Amino acid sequence: MAVIGIDLGTTNSLAAYWADGQPRLIADECGQVLFPSVVSYICGEGLAVGTQAKKRILTHKKDTAASFKRFMGTEKKYRLGEKDYTPMELSAMVLERIKKNAEYFLKEEIEEAVITVPAYFNDKQRSDTKKAAKIAGLSVKRLINEPSAAALAYRTTYGEKDLTLLVFDFGGGTLDLSYVECFDNIIEIVAVAGDNYLGGDDIDQLIAKYFCEENGLAWKENDALTQNCRTENNSTRIDLTISEYAALMQCAEDAKCRLEQENEVELVLEVSGKTYTSKLNQDILFEICMPLFSRIKKLFIHILRDAQARVSDLDDLIMVGGSSRLTVVKRFLTELLGKEPIVLGETDKVVAMGAGVYAGIRARREDIRDMLLTDVCPFTLGVETWRKKSDLQGYLLPMIERNSTLPTSHCQRLVTMNDYQDGITVRIYQGEEYYAKDNLFLGEISIPVYPKPAGEEWIDVYFTYDINGLLYVEVANAQGIRNHILLSNQELSRSELERYRKEMQKLMIPPIQQEENKKILEELTQYYHNSVGGQREQIGLFINWFARYLHSGRRYLIVQAVEKAKQQVQFLEESQDRAEEFLFDGELNVLLEEESEEY
Ligand code: AMP
Repeated sequence: MAVIGIDLGTTNSLAAYWADGQPRLIADECGQVLFPSVVSYICGEGLAVGTQAKKRILTHKKDTAASFKRFMGTEKKYRLGEKDYTPMELSAMVLERIKKNAEYFLKEEIEEAVITVPAYFNDKQRSDTKKAAKIAGLSVKRLINEPSAAALAYRTTYGEKDLTLLVFDFGGGTLDLSYVECFDNIIEIVAVAGDNYLGGDDIDQLIAKYFCEENGLAWKENDALTQNCRTENNSTRIDLTISEYAALMQCAEDAKCRLEQENEVELVLEVSGKTYTSKLNQDILFEICMPLFSRIKKLFIHILRDAQARVSDLDDLIMVGGSSRLTVVKRFLTELLGKEPIVLGETDKVVAMGAGVYAGIRARREDIRDMLLTDVCPFTLGVETWRKKSDLQGYLLPMIERNSTLPTSHCQRLVTMNDYQDGITVRIYQGEEYYAKDNLFLGEISIPVYPKPAGEEWIDVYFTYDINGLLYVEVANAQGIRNHILLSNQELSRSELERYRKEMQKLMIPPIQQEENKKILEELTQYYHNSVGGQREQIGLFINWFARYLHSGRRYLIVQAVEKAKQQVQFLEESQDRAEEFLFDGELNVLLEEESEEY
């Protein structure tokens, strides 16, 4: 029984596994490792998945679904033949084929899969990915973020020294940034930022728009997948038919890719029997991409702010994803950061390789099992609250801020809003919007409170979020009555629920309140009381440093800080012993004896 890693991509999907100390890609029966994430309906034959389906994108556009990952987590429907399919169902078909390929390739059953998702996927998108896996007959214990997988692949391939990375994962439909710190065997994701609607396909759109403007053709902002075309209101321009539009998009993508080999390329398109052309070179493309670059720049500012870091803190910028091949993107990033980015080997395979490394960790393979990959919560989690009774809408009170290292826990006291209310319902949301209702609703939990004038009764709300995307919310009122809810992006059995609840309750105690750490702080404080001058100041500074780490929420930094604090306590203990020894050693005793003789 094998564990595999799957990169379920917008354009292509890949699978990998861990063998002989390295990740390896899984090929299909034709030796291909890239499996197109495309499904097509063939009249009289049924559904085709992968390469055969991809070949039909242009010829049978209406019967073919591609790039559906962009709509994962939505109820968007794709009509193939007589039936409608959701992005989740289409993804399930791709995963099922990948599972079959892997079983054929590895000659054994697949026991478990690790699937990568964009770091910016919300709970619904993650939950639908897991459901797709379940339909495909795959057991998925953990989803990992695509840039984290890339960092894992980079770390296992290149050296052991401590370093700080920024992973720039630029695919067809999404851009994900991750700020990553690597030390010892730990890969810590410090912050993530991204845009689910920004990718290479947008560059194709910008090129197509440029082509239309150059040739006096009407530009349509097109959602090619829904066939909803919106024509600019300019009657002097020539409208494109849907098939001409599709040909233009293909022509734009081809030109973009060809430009990596040639200095200048020509776009040629037949519209109503007439031929239109346009030239494209690196400088023009750079200009065309400006609106996109300014969006990328904003994401950089966002992630550096969240990571409380500067550009100069970065050792390497790692580029992955199909669109990272573009020279204009590399040029833009070099200008923005003042250093050349590293493009990792075959950019479209790096995420899958990382998933393969993680599969090795899951399978507890001897040569990789001690590697630790931490992650962060990509969205803020919070509860709906009101500032004033007169407020028309509740706002989102953050309980777990985005980019908190997982697992994490936080407690907040809330008071009653109305006179003599006899209960409080805590509504739980995910997102960054001010008003609660504008965020993703996750669930709710109620608890009775003693009826008293407004503001006199309270409840404590505990949020605990773990690395598997489980959110445990517990509420307790002043009388000690408790209630809880476990929100999960996967279906859990009764016994699993109980086990997770116990684990989550352990996590609810923040590091600063954990017995071991409290004892270390007490001991350090004792040494502080007993010393004077420079040493006292040194111990004070150390206590301050240690407390800061305990509050940092960075789990593995805390583990290291606790280790250092223990050493410090031991050192102080030993130096005290030495001082005591010194008090009673020969020289001092002579002095003391001499002194006593004098009196
Ligand atoms: P991904 O989602 O990582 O598979 O990336 C797909 C995106 O990469 C699409 O927008 C492709 O047009 C783009 N892409 C693939 N190959 C190249 C290439 N050689 N040069 C530029 N862009 C490419």
